[in-house]
Amino acid sequence: MNIVLNEVTNTIHKHDTGRSDRQTVCGATNHVSQDDLSRVTVIEPELETLHASKCGRCFDDGGGY
Ligand SMILES: [Zn+2]
Repeated sequence: MNIVLNEVTNTIHKHDTGRSDRQTVCGATNHVSQDDLSRVTVIEPELETLHASKCGRCFDDGGGY
């Protein structure tokens, strides 16, 4: 899966694959500088090893955003 990591808040979002660049499903990063976002391709179990918070709107088991 493709995710977008907000390096400032250390939060993981799901990448909106229907859009170009680093847009997220929840849109929470629309106003964040693209320089602060990283698009990462991971397999789902690896999400736990990133030590970042999951976005509550992109992930059912996530926290805040
Ligand atoms: Zn999100």
